[in-house]
Amino acid sequence: MIRSLAVDVAGEKITHKAARRNVTVVQHPLVAAKLSVLRAKTTAPEEFRRNLQEISIFLACEASRHWESGTIEVQTPLANCAGTLLQRPIVLVPILRAGLGMAEGIQCIMPQATVGHIGLYRDEATLRPVSYYHRLPSNLSEAEVLLLDPMLATGFSACQAVTVLKAAGAQRIQIVCLISCEPGIKQLHHAHPEVPLITAAIDPELDNRGYIVPGLGDAGDRYFGTD
Ligand code: URA
Repeated sequence: MIRSLAVDVAGEKITHKAARRNVTVVQHPLVAAKLSVLRAKTTAPEEFRRNLQEISIFLACEASRHWESGTIEVQTPLANCAGTLLQRPIVLVPILRAGLGMAEGIQCIMPQATVGHIGLYRDEATLRPVSYYHRLPSNLSEAEVLLLDPMLATGFSACQAVTVLKAAGAQRIQIVCLISCEPGIKQLHHAHPEVPLITAAIDPELDNRGYIVPGLGDAGDRYFGTD
């Protein structure tokens, strides 16, 4: 079973503060090992892509832990038994562009998911993200929605994307990130306190360019091999 705890920034045991803030850090040796591969600057794009996709699967398992399910009867070749059926459609929404790799991984275990997209750019005057594109499925209001962004840095992009999703009717939104940091969590909690965050790590700080430290660098560049 994947063990997940709400932990604080220092990685201490469950704290009521973090739990109140709807933050779950997935604690699993495979997640930790894959995250280390992603962090290493010597990891080539091919290996980076594979590990990012794989770690996203673990995070999605945790995000889906409490999804509503119903009971059905299943006929095996030998007998009838009780089975499980998920009650709601699933929508994956990667924030362009680095979220695309997460969606690709998660589709391996949720092939029935539809995929929406949100594109954001940074307004150079306000330094805040502005949505330049979104294309979302029509069943958003009934769906379990996973918003995918590898890095929760300042939190402004994730918050803006949640605003777009809510305006489009989404009611069950969770944010799935590889690495988060305290300023981003604070921002998210301030803007959308009811939206859960599932992450593999909480790093200590942001540098003055808005990169998470130690982080893993630019997730999009590393995933797509650009620089
Ligand atoms: N986006 C990234 O890709 N990396 C960071 O560290 C912060 C935002």
